[in-house]
Amino acid sequence: MDYPRIEINLSKLQHNVKTITDKCKENGIKVAGVTKVFCADKKLVKAYVDGGVSYLADSRLQNFQRLKDFSLPKILLRLPMISEAEEVVKYADASLNSEIETIRAISREAVKIGKKHEIILMVDLGDLREGYFYEDDLYKSAEEIKKLEGVELIGIGTNLTCYGGVIPTPENLGRLVEIKNNLEKKHDIKLKIISGGNSSSIPLLYDGTIPEGINNLRLGESLVLGRETAYGKNIEETFSDVFKLVIEAIEIKDKPSLPVGEIGKDAFGNVPVFEDKGIRKRMICAIGRQDLLPDDITPYDKEITVIGSSSDHLILDITNSKIKYEVGDKLEFGLKYGGILRGMTSEYVKKVYV
Ligand SMILES: *Cc1c(COP(=O)(O)O)cnc(C)c1O
Repeated sequence: MDYPRIEINLSKLQHNVKTITDKCKENGIKVAGVTKVFCADKKLVKAYVDGGVSYLADSRLQNFQRLKDFSLPKILLRLPMISEAEEVVKYADASLNSEIETIRAISREAVKIGKKHEIILMVDLGDLREGYFYEDDLYKSAEEIKKLEGVELIGIGTNLTCYGGVIPTPENLGRLVEIKNNLEKKHDIKLKIISGGNSSSIPLLYDGTIPEGINNLRLGESLVLGRETAYGKNIEETFSDVFKLVIEAIEIKDKPSLPVGEIGKDAFGNVPVFEDKGIRKRMICAIGRQDLLPDDITPYDKEITVIGSSSDHLILDITNSKIKYEVGDKLEFGLKYGGILRGMTSEYVKKVYV
């Protein structure tokens, strides 16, 4: 079963990583390469390492099994579940945290196996996903962590443009640096990591306005897609086509654009709406919502439009294409972030490294 497949260009990926980590280095910033979007596939992780990332970071502990063979320090990105504290200590060197209860559990597990686990406390600067929203709560937690065994507070971080769509600015990231300074003074500690967010912080890096003091970024999308995520612009001298989806045509027929009969709910419980465009040439390809969503992909043939999909069928309108397609033809698509994430996760999609 060779299709559907995702072709991954490892040298283009490594080029992206090198270009962006070099730019970060110029600004005193180390990169944590985020591997969750490709389920920490070892060949891609190697491209990250060879490209120059300083840390490996993932949100799921299952993926850490595949990171084991790499010697770089590993950071758990998603706040740990208290129930996984034992595995957190076992597999990750550091984790992002915002609940003292969870940190206490991590401390207990770390003491049990004689390990030191590093804690990065998250600050919510307004995006309203994870992190301490009120500074005093953060200072209180920091004070307690100082007294706990088996854990060490090594830094603070923030995450923006994920839930609330808040864009990183010199002002909000400046506040992170300020909080770091306050924390160091208050508790007489030195923090080695000030993590200024994800791929949405890239524009500040390139226009030279990222506040001094930010010394870490956690990057996924920018490395794999050559794109920042604040405005969705391509990053200079990077590739946006590291990943390519190739799928096979299983039906090509002229059909009306309006279904025939009374309209009920579709396979996912929605009542579909259709526009009457007359008779169109339609193609079905062998991939479906179990693997990715119709919005996740962009046809290389610009005259093709994606109409929709069900669990295992992707329906395309090929009426305007200049190419005379036949059943069995292979069609190529670019992948957006969600497409890479879902496609790489689907065991029904073959991965091919080029
Ligand atoms: C996924 C994730 C990132 C990486 O985000 P990108 O936009 O892909 O760069 C960074 N930090 C955290 C906490 C994440 O969960």
